Amino acid sequence: MNGDIERVIIDRHAIAQRVKELASTIAGDLGSQDQPLPKGLTLVPILSGSFIFVADLIRHLPLLMRIRMLSIVSYPGPRTTSRGARMQSELTHLPHTLQNTHVLLIDDILDTSNTLRLAVDAIQHRQPAALRTCVLLRKQRSSALQFPVDYVAFDVPDKFVVGYGLDFNGYYRNLPDIVTLKAEVLEQAERV
Ligand code: 5GP
Ligand code: MG
Repeated sequence: MNGDIERVIIDRHAIAQRVKELASTIAGDLGSQDQPLPKGLTLVPILSGSFIFVADLIRHLPLLMRIRMLSIVSYPGPRTTSRGARMQSELTHLPHTLQNTHVLLIDDILDTSNTLRLAVDAIQHRQPAALRTCVLLRKQRSSALQFPVDYVAFDVPDKFVVGYGLDFNGYYRNLPDIVTLKAEVLEQAERV
């Protein structure tokens, strides 16, 4: 697995430091445990890519919260370009209404923005008291930069990255750093 890495884009120490810093900004904006939000907080992680980011982030957020998962797929199989976003209803656990709660929607990476747009629509439809969005990574391309998002941990080059929850063809999510893969690894898999 490590032999497939081309370059480390963000190492595990930088990730840990930034996640902690971001959590402190979010906690400051959303209130403290002593003064909980009047309508409560619901975190909505977008599966699967955000699971490691969310696991780390929430342990630095001393706020009373519920967690409801949303599953959206856009890269079926050995692909590195979006095929449009589709909600996976069997893995999505949103309540019918979110009227009584503030929502923090969390994704791994903002690229074409299809995924976040679909997720925002699904949440808005349930009329939350307020909605904020957070991504671990935002690609340096206009489709991502033009989409409004409240919290961004890192801006990254417009390259296909894996690790820290992000996959290629289902693999590499367990890499602790955010990396690019060697061209031959991507090409080989795409040919199969
Ligand atoms: P978008 O819908 O904005 O194009 O992309 C969001 C989703 O596509 C992400 O949640 C992620 O699943 C996938 N994605 C986009 N760019 C990358 C990338 O560079 N690497 C990986 N592994 N997934 C990506
Ligand atoms: Mg995703």
